[in-house]
Amino acid sequence: MVLLLLMLLVPCKISFAVTDLTVETTKQPKDRVEVAWNVVDGATQYQVLMSEGNKDNYKVKATLSSENVGANAYAEEIAMERLSATIGSISKKKQYYFLVQALSADGAVIAQDTTDLYNGDIVSTTKQKYSYADMKKDIKQLEKKYADYIEVNIIGTTVDKRNIYDVILGNPNAEKCVVFQASIHAREYMTSQLVMEQMEYYLDNYNKKYDGKTYKKIFDEVCVHVVAMSNPDGVTISQQGFGGIRSTVLRKKLKKMRGANNTTVWKANARGVDLNRQFNYRFKYVKKWKKGSYAMYGGRNPVSENESKSLVKLVNDVNPKAVVNYHAMGNVIYCNYGASKKMQKKVYQLSGEIRSLTGYSYMGLDQTPGFANWLVCKKGIPSCTVEIGMHTTPVPISQFKTVWKQNKNVMVAVAKMYD
Ligand SMILES: [Zn+2]
Repeated sequence: MVLLLLMLLVPCKISFAVTDLTVETTKQPKDRVEVAWNVVDGATQYQVLMSEGNKDNYKVKATLSSENVGANAYAEEIAMERLSATIGSISKKKQYYFLVQALSADGAVIAQDTTDLYNGDIVSTTKQKYSYADMKKDIKQLEKKYADYIEVNIIGTTVDKRNIYDVILGNPNAEKCVVFQASIHAREYMTSQLVMEQMEYYLDNYNKKYDGKTYKKIFDEVCVHVVAMSNPDGVTISQQGFGGIRSTVLRKKLKKMRGANNTTVWKANARGVDLNRQFNYRFKYVKKWKKGSYAMYGGRNPVSENESKSLVKLVNDVNPKAVVNYHAMGNVIYCNYGASKKMQKKVYQLSGEIRSLTGYSYMGLDQTPGFANWLVCKKGIPSCTVEIGMHTTPVPISQFKTVWKQNKNVMVAVAKMYD
């Protein structure tokens, strides 16, 4: 029996072959696109085809023969080696489709794959209710346009089955990283739009410089984990009411909660837990609101919710140099957590950089069971809470231009602080 198993296993290993082809695109400066794919066993030639507007008009844009590829590429250890071709010329605001085919010596297609790229503005900064669905679509589009520069991970799923995304901007294997987190409070969803727009802006200008260094170089050394929507169920409630929640069980419970008559200003998640009151620092169970509420109820136990668990796990996994939390509103920064002098100094370095860029002012002592409080006081990781916008939440989209001017450089500046 053992012998038989060995016989089955050994030939498998020897005949290890790459038969699938996966293609990715990364937009380059001006009107060029880098198309990249893996080497396929038995292929002697590769064809890169492109079609504009639809998938019906493919034209060959590049051909790579085995001489270009090199005989070494067929060795098992580098079988996953990537090949690429830089092609032009693509126009702005147009949709492009790409097809790469691996051909055998007799010209037969032995493997192929397609991808597409929209060469226009992806993230909307004019839409008032930037939704979970918008963000999800935009992340996918950015991934297709800039495959080399971002990596997308799902770090959790909510009770109403929405994903919590972690988009890594820059080199995912960089030794250092920072974390940006937005929309932990539901009604503060303009913060999601802001971090998405920051990413798109840097990607669009990847070879340009910030403070003497290209974005590319900065994010190669310090990557940014961007959790653009930490509380997607809550955002959905604030934007669509309880009708946006898929689970009838959750909807039924939500309707009985404090604040159920005005869902627009909802802050909590779909279980009525205020996620920024439920970290393991000075946590206290508030019995008065045990049924859950639109805000302020921290839950029965710290880190009981999927969303807070995802954030804690991310921090423990990537050990960031700093964490920036985007909230709304007030044009202020919370950064005094009553931590040790040494720790507070690190926090003030971070918040000072953000204050100098945004012009926001500092708030007084904050000792709630918030994410930043836990990061600073329990984990020793510099963190601060930045409140964008004025007068009211949800922040009216008419304020986005001002918010953008204040915050455009915050993400890149924070990454650069730790290079
Ligand atoms: Zn908030």
